[in-house]
Amino acid sequence: MSENTSEQKNSALKLLLLGVWALYALIAFCINHTPENGTPAAATPEETAAGTTVSAAGTGATVLPSGSEPAAAVPRDIYLTFDDGPCKNTPQVLDILDHYGARATFFTVGTYVDRYPEYAAEIVNRGNLIACHSYTHDMKKCYTSADAFMNELAQWRQAAQSACGELPERLCVRFPGGSTTKYAAAVSEEIKQRIVADGYQWFDWNAGDNDKWQKGNTEQLPDEEYFMKSYRETISWFDDEPETPVVFLFHDTEDGTVSILPAVLQDLIGRGYRFKLLDSHPKWG
Ligand SMILES: [Zn+2]
Repeated sequence: MSENTSEQKNSALKLLLLGVWALYALIAFCINHTPENGTPAAATPEETAAGTTVSAAGTGATVLPSGSEPAAAVPRDIYLTFDDGPCKNTPQVLDILDHYGARATFFTVGTYVDRYPEYAAEIVNRGNLIACHSYTHDMKKCYTSADAFMNELAQWRQAAQSACGELPERLCVRFPGGSTTKYAAAVSEEIKQRIVADGYQWFDWNAGDNDKWQKGNTEQLPDEEYFMKSYRETISWFDDEPETPVVFLFHDTEDGTVSILPAVLQDLIGRGYRFKLLDSHPKWG
């Protein structure tokens, strides 16, 4: 009886030891196979192809899922343009551009270049591009014929050359009122052909702050508010089109545009825009 009891006790002890060992083995197995404790498995080709960023394979370096890189603004190009000057506001516009490290193309009117030659020269001296917006800006006169327009261009050249010393290598031209103005309808195609044949290029715009278009100001907002609202609306058209070069129309003759310019430039910089001059626009080929 007592032997029996002793055997039973021995068997129970063996079973207990076996159980403890099995539990220990199981725990050890689990610890050795948790991802934190082991070398991370290499990314499979599928994972890599799907955009997983793998740095220095085999070093146990971090594997980042795509999209976890630090956000960077997508670089985009904007061509700021100021029409109808030079005028009393031009020096201030140049100061603001300098302050933000921005550059712009100034479509100047020949009669004003003659009136403010020092401002025209300053446009060029401070790294901006001077461009042609006719001599008189008188739409009835400019569009009498293609010859009349080309004469305006020749007169503008004379004014700009005498003010600035030399003309830009690539001369940009903008039609007064834009190339689609009804005043130019009968002659615009011929004018475009002659501009290009003479080695120049013409430019309209695809964005603006509506500073000469109060028709859209249905809420009768003060100028600054309406121009800023127009700016925000038009620039948002390009949110999903980073490849489209933006040619933005302002008038330096409009005080409201000068007032909002610092906020506009700050916003454009935040959106990742690079300021370019129209002599580097893709239209030149
Ligand atoms: Zn104009």
